[in-house]
Amino acid sequence: THFGFAEVPLGQKQGLVDDVFHKVASRYDVMNDLMSGGLHRAWKSAMTTAIGLPKGARQFTLLDVAGGTGDIAFRAIAAGGPGVAVTVFDINDAMLDVGAARAAKRRLSDRVTFIQGNAEELPFPSSSFDAVTIAFGIRNVPRIPVALKEMRRVLKPGGHLLVLEFSKVDVPGLARIYDAFSFGVIPRLGKLVAGDGEPYRYLVESIRRFPDAETFANMMRDAGFEQVTATPMTGGVAALHVGFRI
Ligand code: SAM
Repeated sequence: THFGFAEVPLGQKQGLVDDVFHKVASRYDVMNDLMSGGLHRAWKSAMTTAIGLPKGARQFTLLDVAGGTGDIAFRAIAAGGPGVAVTVFDINDAMLDVGAARAAKRRLSDRVTFIQGNAEELPFPSSSFDAVTIAFGIRNVPRIPVALKEMRRVLKPGGHLLVLEFSKVDVPGLARIYDAFSFGVIPRLGKLVAGDGEPYRYLVESIRRFPDAETFANMMRDAGFEQVTATPMTGGVAALHVGFRI
C-alpha cells in the first residue's frame, strides 16, 4: 500500500469514508470534472442510457444508491419520461444536502427524494424498484457482498442493477500515465481546490484496491445476480457492470 489506508480495519472504514465526503461535499461536483477531465460525464451518460428508462408516461422507480449530490438522479430525470421518479440514497447528510438544494433549484423536489442510510441495510421493502444504480459508490462500502444482496432484494424481479465503478486499466502505456496522474496530480488538485489532499489520497487508494471487472462481475453473480455483464470504458479506467434479478 502507498499511504497506509490498507491497514484500516473493516469496522473503521465507514468513518474514514464519511470524513472524506463531509470534507469535500460542497466542492464535490467541481472536483469530479477536474479530476476526471470531464470523463465522468461520459461514463455516467453511458450508465443512464443502459438503465432503459421509459420515454412515455409509464411509471418507473429508480433507486440510486450512494447517490451523493444527485448527479445520476438528474440525468435519469432528463433522459426519461414524466413517470420516472428517483430515490437518492446516501449515508452522508452533507452530500444529500447539496443534492436536495440542486433538486429544489431545478424544481424537481417532487420527483427526486433524498434518503439517508447505509447501503448495507436498505430501508425499503423487497421488490420495490424497477432499477437500482450505484455510481462510484460501491468501493466505499465496507461489506460489498452485503450491499449487493440488499440491492438485489429491493429490485423487482426482472429489474437490473447497474454498477459504475473505477476498474483496472488494461492498456500498458495508459497504466503508467494513469498511475502518475492519480498518485501525483489528484491529491495536489484536492489540496488546491478542497484545501486538503488527504481525502483524495484515500480515494486513489480505494480505487487501487477495487477488483478488476471480471472479479467484480463474479461478486455480483455470488450475490445472486444473473446475466451479469462488465463493459470496460476508457481503457479500463472505469467499468459498467449490469446484472438482473430474475
Ligand atoms: N454517485 C455519486 C456520483 O457518482 O457523483 C456520488 C459518488 S461519491 C464518489 C461516493 C458516495 O458514496 C458518497 O456520497 C458517500 O457518502 C457514499 N457512501 C459511502 N459509503 C456508503 C454507504 N455505506 N452507504 C451509502 N452511501 C455510501
